Amino acid sequence: MISIADIINFLETKAPLALQESYDNAGLVCGNRMLACSGAIAALDLTEQVLEEAIDKKFNLVIVHHPPIFKPLKSLEPRDAITRLLLKAIKHDIAVYAIHTNLDNVVWGVNGEIARRVGLQKACVLAPMQHTHQKLAVFVPVDHAEKLSNALFEAGAGSIGHYSECSFTSEGNGSFKPMKGSQPFIGAEGMREKVVEAKIEVIFPVHLQPKILAVMHENHPYEVVAYDILPLENKFSSFGGGIVGELKEPMQVDEFLSLLKLRFQTGTIRHNTVPGKSIQKVAFCGGSGKQLINNALASKVDAFVTSDLTYHDFFLPEGKMLLADIGHFESEQFTSDLLVEILNEKFPTFAVLKTAHKTNPVNYFL
Ligand SMILES: [Zn+2]
Repeated sequence: MISIADIINFLETKAPLALQESYDNAGLVCGNRMLACSGAIAALDLTEQVLEEAIDKKFNLVIVHHPPIFKPLKSLEPRDAITRLLLKAIKHDIAVYAIHTNLDNVVWGVNGEIARRVGLQKACVLAPMQHTHQKLAVFVPVDHAEKLSNALFEAGAGSIGHYSECSFTSEGNGSFKPMKGSQPFIGAEGMREKVVEAKIEVIFPVHLQPKILAVMHENHPYEVVAYDILPLENKFSSFGGGIVGELKEPMQVDEFLSLLKLRFQTGTIRHNTVPGKSIQKVAFCGGSGKQLINNALASKVDAFVTSDLTYHDFFLPEGKMLLADIGHFESEQFTSDLLVEILNEKFPTFAVLKTAHKTNPVNYFL
C-alpha cells in the first residue's frame, strides 16, 4: 500500500519545502496524509475539471504546481472559487498537494525540464540561492572517525555538485573533565582527560540538519558531542531560480522564436527587438521570471525566455538580449509531465496521470 504520506515524502526529498520562496505556500493544502493513496492527478492548477477528473477516477490525491491557498483564508464559507473547490475536495476525501517554488528552485525541476525539452546543453541554475547549505565540524576519537564519516555521508552530508562523500579530517588534542553525574565514554570523574581526536568537516543542505544531527549523535561514542554548525555564504549550483545553457547551434532570432512557438505550442510570443543578434546562450524561467532579467543580463545570455512581463520590462535589455514572454501556462506546462515521470519511476505500480484538461485561463484571439 502506498500512502499519501509516501508520495509527499518522496516529493519533498526531491524538492524540499525548505527551498520554497518566503512568500510561497507549497505543501499539503488539505487532506489526510495517513490515508492509502488510490491514485493521483498532476496539474498546474486546481480547477473544477481537474477535481472532477480525480472524483471520476476515484483518485484521492491531486498534485498541483500552483498552491490553491496563497493568502491565508479567514473562513471556509464557499464564497469564492478556491474555497468552493477545497470544500469539494475535502467532501470527497481528496488531498491536494502543491509543489511550487521548491520545484522551481531545484536544478532538475520546472526549469530543468524546460532545458531538456529545448535541448539546452551545459544547463545550470541561472540565479543560485544562498544559505542553502551549512557546515558541520564534529570532534570524535580518531578510531571512531571512519564510522561517523560513513554515517554522515549516508545521511546526505558531503555532496557538492557531481561529487559525494566530500569531507576534511584533521587531528588534534581534545580535553575535557567529567564532572559529577557524567557517564564518560573515556576518562574518570574529576580528572582532566586528553584524547587524540579527529575533526570531521562536512557540508550538508540546511533542510537535512535534523537528520544529520540525529545520525551524528547515534554514531558518536561520547555522552556529550562537541560540534559546530556554521552557516555558509557559498552559492551551490544545484539550487536556485531559472536555468541557463547553450543551444547546439547558433540561431537567428526568428528561427529561435519559431523553435519556442513549436516546443511550447504558444498562441503568441511577445518580445523586444535585438537587430542582427545571433542566439546561442539562452536562459529560461518557467512562470513569472521578471525578477531574473538582471541575472540573465549579467550572465550575458543572448535570450531570456519567461512569462508575465509588462510593457516596461521590454525596455530593460537595451538591445543586449532578446527578451521573450511565451505565456505563464505555456512556460510551465511540462511540469505535470515531469511529476508523472518521477512518480512513475519511484512507484511503478502507482496510478498517476497528467490531467486531461488544459487549465490555462488565458486564451489568444488571433
Ligand atoms: Zn506558475
